[in-house]
Amino acid sequence: MLERSKMTDRIYNFGAGPAMLPEPVMQQIQQEWLNFQGMGISIIEISHRTKEFVAILDAAKSLFRELTGLPDNYRILFVHGGARMQFSALPLNFAGGVAAKKALYVESGNFASLAAKEAQAFCHVETIASSAATDYDRIPELKSEQIDQNAAYLHITSNNTLYGTRWQQFPETGNVPLIADMTSEILSRQIDYNQFGVVYAGLQKNLGPSGMAMVIVREDLLGDVDKKTPTLLDYTQCDKDNSLTNTTNTFAIYVIKLVLEWLKKQGGIAAIETLNQQKAAHLYQVIDESEFYRGIAHPEDRSIMNIPFKTVSAELDAKFLEEADAVGLYALKGHRNVGGARASIYNPMPLAGVDKLVSFMVEFERKNS
Ligand SMILES: *Cc1c(COP(=O)(O)O)cnc(C)c1O
Repeated sequence: MLERSKMTDRIYNFGAGPAMLPEPVMQQIQQEWLNFQGMGISIIEISHRTKEFVAILDAAKSLFRELTGLPDNYRILFVHGGARMQFSALPLNFAGGVAAKKALYVESGNFASLAAKEAQAFCHVETIASSAATDYDRIPELKSEQIDQNAAYLHITSNNTLYGTRWQQFPETGNVPLIADMTSEILSRQIDYNQFGVVYAGLQKNLGPSGMAMVIVREDLLGDVDKKTPTLLDYTQCDKDNSLTNTTNTFAIYVIKLVLEWLKKQGGIAAIETLNQQKAAHLYQVIDESEFYRGIAHPEDRSIMNIPFKTVSAELDAKFLEEADAVGLYALKGHRNVGGARASIYNPMPLAGVDKLVSFMVEFERKNS
């Protein structure tokens, strides 16, 4: 086992989540940790109902609106339990009320199938397209005729974190609200939110710390919640309470606000999207030009956030991961369902981190092929 010497500098974290955060954000947290804005206490020591905290929450919402161009008829919620808690909340809020109906799911990966499985406890679930037969190496084909116009919603996973695929274009759903789990790509590319009824994301990939989620919901979809819904999963209640029904994770929301400020300073989503494309292109180029590395995802469906790949053997995969870790290229191990390596290159990953990985890959191939 190669021993990584104690790092004096920060390393590059390619982990899928919790993922790296922008360094200036971490520095600001550290600076104001003991004494937030001259209050003499920490941000995590003040009540979620103070004007100081509510100002942070409101600023996070307005920054999100500004950065995404979110239309006025969409509400922004901060909810508990990460992305997977929403797998239950979605059918309760949108398919179990007075207008109880079936819900449609597209199975494009691990989280997509978990979302469908969880919803089965609360509504009738129909999986209308799946790429399970090809080990989720692509986004399954979906024709508009397959979308029953009486369905409560259609659920997709916009970026499939384990397999490195994403929807390049989103399906036309007619009158059926489109719901997207964007956990592993929110704020990484320009999106027209008008295409969606609901967009949600766990925080720990592009937004902040783990354990919570953001939910963006078109306001006409609120108000018809299943009666058995626990209060803290009730989006209508959450909206009425400005996401403060109970004591929220104040620290997480504070970090989101700092991450959004950082993103604005980078030039917003258009600028970060260009950088993200550039980062991904560098990695795909090495993979495509070599006989030694191979990607997992079909080229047309490739993600620019998660890039899984393998070398020519499981032994060399293991050696690759060990040697990468030793030089500060951290957490490149692929998910256990896929194996090999996976580079998660979310918004905060600088181009220099990707280029360090690219050089390592070229050198590793030279020495081992
Ligand atoms: C990481 C991830 C999840 C799980 O998020 P939790 O916050 O751990 O529940 C769900 N969906 C997608 C697409 C993810 O990438």
